[in-house]
Amino acid sequence: MMTRIVIAGPRGNMGREAVTMVTETEEFELVGVIDRKHDGMNMNDVDGYPQLDVPIFSDAEECFQKVEPDVLIDLTNPQTGKVHMKQALLNGVRPVIGTTGFTDDDVEELSKLAEEKELGAIIAPNFAIGAILMMKFSQMAAKYMPDVEIIEQHHDKKLDAPSGTAVKTAQLISEVRESKEQGHPEEEETLRGARGADFEGMRIHSVRLPGLVAHQEVIFGGEGQALKIRHDSMNRRSFMPGVKLACEAAMKMNVLVYGLEHIIE
Ligand code: NAP
Repeated sequence: MMTRIVIAGPRGNMGREAVTMVTETEEFELVGVIDRKHDGMNMNDVDGYPQLDVPIFSDAEECFQKVEPDVLIDLTNPQTGKVHMKQALLNGVRPVIGTTGFTDDDVEELSKLAEEKELGAIIAPNFAIGAILMMKFSQMAAKYMPDVEIIEQHHDKKLDAPSGTAVKTAQLISEVRESKEQGHPEEEETLRGARGADFEGMRIHSVRLPGLVAHQEVIFGGEGQALKIRHDSMNRRSFMPGVKLACEAAMKMNVLVYGLEHIIE
């Protein structure tokens, strides 16, 4: 059976890749897009998509009611993504959210709504399968090497810091590591922020530069040794196998899952 999909943010860097992935996947059908700038137009009116007969809506609710999709893929920004996700659940649509910057409170609220509506939903701060492995390996290492710092690097258009992946990595590590201050107990920052963000004593450093895509290094230090676990996304195509997997999984579930690692064994 075909899965009917709507994409929010189809002109964005991630959204464009998602349009390609959905239109190239045999069992997926792109039935609409949510784009605040081209309401009432068609994808074949928009630059780059002369062959694509897909209606464009600026209002998510109108889109869901008119085209009745199974799945929403959201690749916008945190404020918009939250609104789209809520509207999707209220309209019987299963959300697959790549947009980053959701807080724990947002996830909890949306999780309750998904449970109430008995709809599968996925929020994944990172859809790159290699990045999921980096997080899993980091959790494994932290059990034996609890002194750890995370350096994440992204392009300079990214709005949230630290990245969702860095926070997720820290959360996974904290499941196996006691909260612990690192560095010298009397250390002082002579320039504010020099030691990065503090997550239960783990430091997270965010680098933003043009030319970067998405990169993360997790550095563990031990007596006379260091271990570095690194993942690089070279382009946004790297996220699409994970988005596809999430759409398939959302169709089979009836709760919200936070993190692709829960659907990859
Ligand atoms: P981007 O290139 O800036 O694209 C964002 C898109 O969202 C733009 O097309 C923008 O349209 C649209 N948008 C913004 N506000 C909107 C609104 N109110 N209503 C409808 N559309 C709106 O960003 P990107 O690099 O594609 O990233 C998108 C999101 O995915 C970010 O949150 C990013 O952190 C996240 N991301 C996730 C992963 C993952 O694996 N989960 C990987 C990479 C990025 P306008 O042109 O009208 O502003």
